[in-house]
Amino acid sequence: MTSRLYRDRGIVLRTYKSGEADRIIVFLTENNGKVRAIAKGVRKTRSKFGGRLEPLSLLDVQLHRGRDLDIVNQVETVDSTNNVFGDLDSMTEGIAVLEAVDQLVPDREPVPHMYRMLVGVRRTLLTRPSPLVVPAFLWKLLASEGVHPVLDRCSQCGEVPEGDNEFGSFDVRHGGVTCSACRAGIPVSGPALELMREILGGRLGDALDKAFHPEGQTLDDPVINEVSNLATRAFEHHVERRLKSVSIFERHDSGS
Ligand SMILES: [Zn+2]
Repeated sequence: MTSRLYRDRGIVLRTYKSGEADRIIVFLTENNGKVRAIAKGVRKTRSKFGGRLEPLSLLDVQLHRGRDLDIVNQVETVDSTNNVFGDLDSMTEGIAVLEAVDQLVPDREPVPHMYRMLVGVRRTLLTRPSPLVVPAFLWKLLASEGVHPVLDRCSQCGEVPEGDNEFGSFDVRHGGVTCSACRAGIPVSGPALELMREILGGRLGDALDKAFHPEGQTLDDPVINEVSNLATRAFEHHVERRLKSVSIFERHDSGS
């Protein structure tokens, strides 16, 4: 008989209450994908898990495989890096990142690349937080899903503008910039496009360094706001399309 106990590394995506004293923990694990598990007695003051099962925690877990829910058996903290500012801003950003992953990843389907991305962004949030972290992560997540935005030619007619002429707008339905003739979607500035090229073109580290201010976060950078707004819209568009295709698939499935 195979053991139903297994070990894995995981990041807590979210938790919710169950019964009198229990909590359901949703993990993104390295090797088992997204796993839901019940942590028994965790809401009692003398729980053996202590306060370790919090969103964004990176843990070494031992789980017991169950039919619906697994059971949390043991928990060890892997990385207890503390937030550089110790404030709640990066937690709000952390929640945004965790929600995005939770929305994209189906249960029990191993997605090690997404786990690695999440470990990376977690570290950035804790050590170099800035308003650019969440939008940069969303763009990288979309690119890893095969939805790489078109930034070097018009996403509708394919035209490459000459000279200083830049693309004036970005159309999430076509997944990229549009030229002045095709103009569709949301207006986008040259600096915002340049920042997106940096994020997606292998210069993410530089972009994050520039956005990080050791004395505190600047929350009203107009270029970052633009990139952030576009990232949110593109991500929502992608999730909506995926949900539609999943529901069509499920209708087929139940009808057969
Ligand atoms: Zn065009």
